[in-house]
Amino acid sequence: MANEGLHADIRQLAGVGEKRAAAFLRLHISTLGELLSHYPRTYENRKTCKKIIELQNEETTCIKAVVFSAVKTSVIRKNLRVHTVRVSDGTGFLDLVWFNNRFLEQRLKKGETYVFYGKVRLSPKKQMQTPLFELPDKQKQTGRIFPVYPLTEGLTDAIVADCVEQALALCRDAIPDSLPRSVREAYELCTLEFALQNIHFPTDRRAYEAARRRLAFEELFLFQTALFSLKERRSAQSVALMTASPAPFVTSLPFSLTGAQQRVIREIATDLKGGTAMNRLVCGDVGSGKTAVAAAAVYIAVKSGYQAAFMAPTEILATQHYKGLSAFFAEHGIKLELLLGSMTAAARKKALARLASGEADVAIGTHALLSENVHFKALGLAVTDEQHRFGVSQRRTLSDKGDNPHVLVMSATPIPRTLALIIYGDLDVSLIDELPPGRQTIDTFTVTEAYRKRIYAFIEKELAAGRQAYIVCPLVEENGTPELQAATEYAKTLQKDVFHKRRIGLLHGKMKGAEKDAVMAEFKNGDIDLLVATSVIEVGVDVPNATVMLIENAERFGLSQLHQLRGRIGRGSFKSYCILMNRSRQEAAGARLQIMREQSDGFKIAEEDLKQRGPGEFFGTRQHGLPGFKIANLFTDMALLKETTRAAQDFTEGKIAYTSDEFVLLSDKINALFDNRVTFS
Ligand code: ADP
Ligand code: MG
Repeated sequence: MANEGLHADIRQLAGVGEKRAAAFLRLHISTLGELLSHYPRTYENRKTCKKIIELQNEETTCIKAVVFSAVKTSVIRKNLRVHTVRVSDGTGFLDLVWFNNRFLEQRLKKGETYVFYGKVRLSPKKQMQTPLFELPDKQKQTGRIFPVYPLTEGLTDAIVADCVEQALALCRDAIPDSLPRSVREAYELCTLEFALQNIHFPTDRRAYEAARRRLAFEELFLFQTALFSLKERRSAQSVALMTASPAPFVTSLPFSLTGAQQRVIREIATDLKGGTAMNRLVCGDVGSGKTAVAAAAVYIAVKSGYQAAFMAPTEILATQHYKGLSAFFAEHGIKLELLLGSMTAAARKKALARLASGEADVAIGTHALLSENVHFKALGLAVTDEQHRFGVSQRRTLSDKGDNPHVLVMSATPIPRTLALIIYGDLDVSLIDELPPGRQTIDTFTVTEAYRKRIYAFIEKELAAGRQAYIVCPLVEENGTPELQAATEYAKTLQKDVFHKRRIGLLHGKMKGAEKDAVMAEFKNGDIDLLVATSVIEVGVDVPNATVMLIENAERFGLSQLHQLRGRIGRGSFKSYCILMNRSRQEAAGARLQIMREQSDGFKIAEEDLKQRGPGEFFGTRQHGLPGFKIANLFTDMALLKETTRAAQDFTEGKIAYTSDEFVLLSDKINALFDNRVTFS
């Protein structure tokens, strides 16, 4: 048994038959190892006994008391029996109450002392309800800090705790430590055995903290080691050398680049001629000029004899990039193709042929670029814009269309650098932390429904002065009305009741690509004054004459999303205003929106957003491709993260010694962490 150790089946445990095993399986537990890494979600202090006289209302605690009266049972109605018993510990009396407990009279003996654990109520009567109880010399569920587990039907905390206890006893001395001793010593981490014992049954707070630190450290360390080694391995493959200078492109631009843009272009140029595949994330606030930076990379690739692909999440954005890059590249003889899902078959066929033959240099498009029949003659660079809209696998599909091409991804979701290192551990990160000159700050207001008339009047004033405006509605149903209909109705109402003289347009996610483009083009040309939109305008659309944005139900958006939306205005020389309509009555919602008034720095807003919503919400679930951490928390474990980054780096670079046994254990764990999707070598 012991040699099977952590891999042993849980059905070997006393009390675990087929039925319980099935319940455990619902929690993805079938082995002792899996059981031991089913960590408690919280703990109950059942260790110390309180005196009856000290008891507070609503407190859940232990008392040690003698049974003073026989169990009294009264029948309230057919299926409800109430049992009461009076106990005392010398400081006072307490009544204990149970319901429908047939065995109570046998189990509780008058004159005997027990430890009781339950919830206290002082009114209407001083009572403890349905306490569990044990003899003082036979304590199992009391007398210790007791774990509270994530559960499923058929399991209780007591059952799981009992199984864990058996498993710990069975595996004792058979739990190999997956962290090399040198790492453990350098970072003062306890052994795995101690950690498992104390994460389930901590003797005290210090033991718990040591256990938690060790387990969280291990999760982060394994993950980062895997990412670092991926990075090393990729660099070993052969790759296109791109040595053309971006200078002719840079001097042909209608503006001079910011210092940050120049720096990032230099970083990219260095990557491209470095002999290993570039894998770089460019992270920059809305309007920081990421497109020009990506265009410089595309220019280098094409002038070095390769093709480039440029993928954007929406047709509007892809089309805007196509137009923008066409203008940038007009005088450089670079040929672009636009690939959209909404194209006619004939146009598509022609575009595909030109890409496959190498006649076209650059493909710009949406997910349509990922389709199987898109082939390149020599794809050397794959660019993904607004990468948070794509999954990791989509990024990979794009780069698989070339032979180990350079990869550039761009994100307008500013995230703290340390976190970027974790999430994109396999990427190098460049920050564009400077806006082009002349950008003005946008005045931001949070208002309630009471201000609606005044807000409409304000918008009308701006429109009368020749400006344009956005009204953004969240992607939600309202009173059962589908979101689309809600936005449509809203646009109609505005036309009829508020802005009769103005041309109102509607933009939403359900529109076909061509329809969206038509509306966007009209707005850009000034043929629409007021654009009612669902959050499809969130990314990248550029209309410098738009100066007002009213965001309805702003409380339903994340701060980073609001920041991105707000980035659509203030792009020209006119003073711009963002109005957040808060329809929540909760104080917290107002306070959260207040941050938008005070902050214009996307990185600071992101930090705040992250703090408030946690990384899961912040990044969404689908996009980051992170394994679920069981115990580490990417936000609250920032300090630990710094340590594990250093440890993983040192380990990958061979600065930490380990034995071959230790190495095998470690790589097994890493494979398990990634569901064997990554082979760690
Ligand atoms: P984002 O980083 O949000 O993708 P864009 O690349 O769309 O930003 O740039 C926003 C606008 O700023 C565009 O109109 C672009 O031409 C302009 N721009 C970019 N870089 C500069 C610069 N250095 N000076 C002036 N304008 C710039
Ligand atoms: Mg952009």
